[in-house]
Amino acid sequence: MSNVLSSDKRGARELGAEKKVGWDEVTHGVALFSFENDATDTASLRPEERSYADFNSYTATVASWRVAKPVYNRDICIDCQNCWVWCPDTSIISRDKQMIGIDYDHCKGCGVCVEVCPTNPKSLLMFGEAVASDDALAQWPEKKKKDAK
Ligand code: SF4
Ligand code: SF4
Repeated sequence: MSNVLSSDKRGARELGAEKKVGWDEVTHGVALFSFENDATDTASLRPEERSYADFNSYTATVASWRVAKPVYNRDICIDCQNCWVWCPDTSIISRDKQMIGIDYDHCKGCGVCVEVCPTNPKSLLMFGEAVASDDALAQWPEKKKKDAK
C-alpha cells in the first residue's frame, strides 16, 4: 500500500519550477498527450501503474500552495467514501472502497473533505502544514456528547 501513497511517478516536479513553454507560445494545433506510448488500456490501470507523460498534472506537485493540510485518522474512519466523492482535486486515495490516505502532492488544503466527513469526532481534520501527522493524531478531539434535551 505504501507505493500507492508515495509513487515515484507522482509529484516528480514542482509545478512551474521548470521553464516550460508559456500558454501563448504553444503552436496552434499542438497535441499534449497525457500518457506515454499507447494508452489503450490505461483506464483499466490504477493511477500509480500508468505511464504518465511529463505534461500530465499527475507528475507535478502543488503541495507548496497549501498552508493547512487534512490529517487522516484511520481509527475513526467508517470508509463511507464521502471525502473521496467530494474532494475537488482527486486527492483522497481509496482502494476497494477503503479510504487509505491523502495524496499530499495534489491536495490544495481546501478542507472540503473535513466538512463532509460524518464521524464524531471527524476522521479528517485540518492542521497547519508544519504540524507532523503523529502530533496531529495525538491531539485529536474526543467524541462530542449529544446535548441534553
Ligand atoms: S483538503 Fe481539499 S484538496 Fe485536500 S484532500 Fe481534502 S478535499 Fe481534497
Ligand atoms: S468522509 Fe470521513 S469517515 Fe468517510 S471515508 Fe472519508 S475520512 Fe472516512
